[in-house]
Amino acid sequence: MTRRDWMKASAAATAVPALSGAERPAALQTGIVRLKLRHTWTTVMSSSDFRDTFHLAYSRDGVTGHGEGAPIPRYKETAATAKAAIESLRGMLLSADPWQFTKLLGEVFRRIPGEFAGKAALDMALMDWVGQKLGTPLYRYFGLDPKDAPLTTFSIGIDTPEMTRKKVEEAAQFPVLKIKVGLANDEATMDTVRQITRKPLRVDANEGWTNKEEAVRKINWLEKMGVEFVEQPMPAAMIEETRWVRSRVHIPIIADEACMHAGDIPKLRDAFDGVNVKLDKAGGVLEAHRMIQIAKALGMKTMLGCMVSSSVSVTAAAHLSPLVDYADLDGNLLISNDPYAGVTVKDGRLVLPAGPGLGLRKI
Ligand code: MG
Repeated sequence: MTRRDWMKASAAATAVPALSGAERPAALQTGIVRLKLRHTWTTVMSSSDFRDTFHLAYSRDGVTGHGEGAPIPRYKETAATAKAAIESLRGMLLSADPWQFTKLLGEVFRRIPGEFAGKAALDMALMDWVGQKLGTPLYRYFGLDPKDAPLTTFSIGIDTPEMTRKKVEEAAQFPVLKIKVGLANDEATMDTVRQITRKPLRVDANEGWTNKEEAVRKINWLEKMGVEFVEQPMPAAMIEETRWVRSRVHIPIIADEACMHAGDIPKLRDAFDGVNVKLDKAGGVLEAHRMIQIAKALGMKTMLGCMVSSSVSVTAAAHLSPLVDYADLDGNLLISNDPYAGVTVKDGRLVLPAGPGLGLRKI
């Protein structure tokens, strides 16, 4: 046997047989995407011109599922820590069976402390993959009617009166607005908004009022301004004080920062009327679904919110939106370089994509 013949024979002996569609191995891609904001975004917590989110693509058997997590600085997460956490389990993720997604995600949650944006991206990609393999949009997988998708608010970040005016005018197609307050200029912000529009408003104080008497005063004032509810008026830890405030006001109080996971909800029951569920806080679609069900079982109102993120994450949340009372799913509308198209908004109402899985389209 010549050396050449030997090499040919040896290659044939070790060649992997061509794989059928059902046997193609898994691949995992992770990356960080910088999303540019249309307007500088200011809340009580931060102010910035861009946001970095963690993106994940999981491929197997010729199908790729996409996921995204927007790390929340309050919980000391960044896109880089999300990426590092998921990469630390690469071997396990590539060898696991994606059809056993509940078991797989349970193991991921057990092994990684925190890093809920990273977990959300993985959960989303797996649910997108499963939906595509089944040929079913995610809302149908959960037994939901897309026609039940609610109105979404459009959020107006804290700004100067001139910029607030411009943002409210730009939000003309949205029948309900969400106004960020919680700084010293609350009165000026609300007055500016009310000079331009009589639309119903929802207000998010992002833990901005630390004194319970002040919180009652502000909320009683907001009641007279046509505000439907107030989100997280006081710091997350001040549950007793919030309970005191709730007994003195006449509009619902919704928990956001005080409510990350399903296990948080029972202790919030008397202090809040409802909870704002976000995939990035919860760690994905499955935990968000669990939270909505638990809140409903406890007789609480439910809301789906989002961080500034692309259409990947906002669309994933939107698939659960037929379940909730309120939606604030506008994170993709606040950016100018969305890499994907998915959920859209028509006359303020969420329109879910009909494609399988998340139903995303790369732009
Ligand atoms: Mg909030």
